[in-house]
Amino acid sequence: MTLDPRLEPIYTKVVERNAGEAEFHQAVSEVFDSLSVVVGKRPEYLDHGVIERLCEPERQIIFRVPWVDDNGDVQVNRGFRVEFSSVLGPYKGGLRFHPSVYLGIVKFLGFEQIFKNALTGLPIGGGKGGSDFDPKGRSDGEVMRFCQSFMTELHRHIGEYTDVPAGDIGVGGREVGFLFGQYKRITNRYESGVLTGKGIGWGGSQVRTEATGYGTVYFANEMLATRGEGLDGKRVVVSGSGNVAIYAIEKAQQLGATVIACSDSSGYVVDEQGLDLARLQEIKEVRRGRISEYTQQGGQSRHVTDGSIWDVPCDVALPCATQNELDEQAALTLINNGCGIVAEGANMPATPEAIRAFGGSRVLFAPGKAANAGGVATSALEMQQNASRDSWSFEHTEDRLASIMTGIHARCAETAEEFGAPGDYVLGANVSSFLQVADAMIALGVI
Ligand code: GLU
Repeated sequence: MTLDPRLEPIYTKVVERNAGEAEFHQAVSEVFDSLSVVVGKRPEYLDHGVIERLCEPERQIIFRVPWVDDNGDVQVNRGFRVEFSSVLGPYKGGLRFHPSVYLGIVKFLGFEQIFKNALTGLPIGGGKGGSDFDPKGRSDGEVMRFCQSFMTELHRHIGEYTDVPAGDIGVGGREVGFLFGQYKRITNRYESGVLTGKGIGWGGSQVRTEATGYGTVYFANEMLATRGEGLDGKRVVVSGSGNVAIYAIEKAQQLGATVIACSDSSGYVVDEQGLDLARLQEIKEVRRGRISEYTQQGGQSRHVTDGSIWDVPCDVALPCATQNELDEQAALTLINNGCGIVAEGANMPATPEAIRAFGGSRVLFAPGKAANAGGVATSALEMQQNASRDSWSFEHTEDRLASIMTGIHARCAETAEEFGAPGDYVLGANVSSFLQVADAMIALGVI
């Protein structure tokens, strides 16, 4: 799709003033591609500087995170929090701890989060943060000292009505615990609603751990339903083996699918009989080990270190690892192997070229901002429970998650239809969330 000439100068300016931030440019460009149809039909959205304002975060915080490792040496990392948009609610979005984190990654994630959070229909704005700290190979004590130092600066910028961080890659229950402990200590407040992804025993929500992966599978199931199909009997490939991947595998299996492959940075494992989830969880969640250990425990599985996990023929592909992990070549392989559904569990795992390839094929493709919104939606449910000092049952919370995902699917499908592109979930997700955010921005004035 060619960019509307009225959007072109705005995009050029975004690239110029955010030089070198390739992932941020990519996320903006994907949304702008979809907005061409909006400004064509409803040019009033070009007034009020709505689009220019949306591309400029409300606030960007960068800070030093010094800490002492187990050898007594001082380490220095960089911390980030980009508070992108608070027009629909407090900034909301995770923290990522990974060596690849720099401002461009945090901004792409924060920008995506605005639209994802709007799609949930819940009152949450968009933000994201993190650090280039690598938790891999670090002791619990080192992770704790890092988290305490990180929160010593971050605490002054967040709050239950201001900005509510959570987890993302490298930040799970352990890290949220250390972060919450330090926030509580510094502020002398038991402010449960300041962070989500907390433990069940101290203010967390049932289903939050499972929510992103479960939600992605619910979404994929809705996509299949548009073709009169379901997950039962389908061959599914899930990339990654972190929190999102593990619970996508669990839900897909519960719905009758055979999940035959998953991966980590050392390669991928194929088990034609269907992955043994308990074995995977023991390796990944309990021991924080490598996926190659899976094959060492008997059975017919194999560990592959060359090629791509997307070479494995499947009916449904769920990329749940990280950004730009599925390129054009992988997309063409999936298409040629007869894959029918691709739903993103990670944030922006498919490259623009891959998305274009799916667009010209019979594959139904759902972008992460729709398909992985179950995680942040359940964070918003955690905030609701914290605000009312309540805690809901697993069944009730999962029912809420399932109906939120059905709602997002319907919204994307209907918007795509309305704007003349039936089955285009990228357009449906971008346009319907943009309209909601833009209308609120117009209503609240130039701020
Ligand atoms: N990091 C997750 C995401 O990408 C969850 C954010 C949250 O729960 O605030 O949406």
